[in-house]
Amino acid sequence: MKRITILGSTGSIGVNTLDVLARHPDKYELIALTANKDIDGLLAQCLAHRPKYAVMADADSAEQLAKRIKQQALDTEVLAGSEALVQVAGLDEVDYVMAAIVGAAGLLPTLAAAQAGKRVLLANKEALVMSGKLFMDTVAQNQAELLPIDSEHNAIFQCMPQCVRGDFGRGLEESGVTGILLTASGGPFRTLPLEALSSVTVEQALAHPNWDMGRKISIDSASMMNKGLELIEACWLFHTRPESIQVVIHPQSVIHSMVQYADGSVLAQLGNPDMRTPIAHALAWPQRMAAGVAPLDLFDLARLDFAPPDLARFPCLRLAGEAMQAGGTATAVLNAANEVAVAEFLHGRIRFTDIAGIIEASLAQIPVREAEDLEAVMQADTEARHYAENLVRDLAA
Ligand code: NAD
Ligand code: MG
Repeated sequence: MKRITILGSTGSIGVNTLDVLARHPDKYELIALTANKDIDGLLAQCLAHRPKYAVMADADSAEQLAKRIKQQALDTEVLAGSEALVQVAGLDEVDYVMAAIVGAAGLLPTLAAAQAGKRVLLANKEALVMSGKLFMDTVAQNQAELLPIDSEHNAIFQCMPQCVRGDFGRGLEESGVTGILLTASGGPFRTLPLEALSSVTVEQALAHPNWDMGRKISIDSASMMNKGLELIEACWLFHTRPESIQVVIHPQSVIHSMVQYADGSVLAQLGNPDMRTPIAHALAWPQRMAAGVAPLDLFDLARLDFAPPDLARFPCLRLAGEAMQAGGTATAVLNAANEVAVAEFLHGRIRFTDIAGIIEASLAQIPVREAEDLEAVMQADTEARHYAENLVRDLAA
């Protein structure tokens, strides 16, 4: 039995994880579930899955959840606050941690899981984008296992040669790997006339053609910042540089990414766009197990299309590449400015096209420093948030 904490269990990845776990009650035991403020959601999960701990990041929500857990005569212990998230990520009795909190809020608990030497199932890409080297060093120093949940990175992992998989791509060149093809659907605005981009609505931006995901990542997919964050994520996970990664627009989202080899071979991982595949893969690795995903029907699919990305349409993708090249705290600035801009867009306070402008201005304004410790990363995050929030105020005025 492997014992599991799910950070962000009420979200899209969290719910998919619980679905996969429920298919294999003989293999996994739930220890802790966590959420921010979704009391009803977390209560329902506690009733269905009976975890030992339930954590709510928001203290008032935790208080209310505790009352309702008591009314239901459940044994689940309710904990509150960000320290409790860190605590359940590092418990001795936990083997695997699903890191599925969205955004920078996930950094500390995800890092805590790595510090405690767990198998970290990484969905929370923002944590890695912010803290890159620090995170990878923490994984290595504590013999944690890092398995990518992001469908592209999970695909790349599956297509990597056996000898570099466990060590996350160290020595790619010696293993004959010459490059990574990172696929992207292009999101809902792939073919929209460029001049219409500035007036798209929140609903249009949330309507992803192939994937059903949380709100933040859906907006990131529409701006292609999601692919930008994934480019950075891939650089860290597979010890490579942006020059070795080609983003490929592939609207069907069936090839989840590819690895190129020196002999001309290209290995791809295919499957229906369903996050339960990478989740089941990372849980069971190096074995395989059922995920509840429908088999891929190639005849039904008939064709697969590919195109290069348009950086004029998707400036966020360019900005992410530039931030990775700049190194240090630049990717933490990129991430923080993006989180602020996306939240403001979701609140209807800025236009879709303002997102890239806010990030670009933040990157230009905030000096890049070494990202050698958590303090430096958090300082860059705070500075970028303040700067981006001020820009939004100016835009509104
Ligand atoms: P979501 O918004 O559906 O869920 C987020 C979860 O995090 C919820 O459980 C929420 O309660 C919790 N949370 C939010 N703010 C918090 C805070 N301040 N403190 C503690 N907990 C908080 O998001 P999602 O779509 O499930 O995405 C989660 C992560 O996985 C993101 O980093 C995303 O980029 C990544 N990811 C998601 C998908 C997908 O298909 N949804 C695919 C690849 C990667
Ligand atoms: Mg992805």
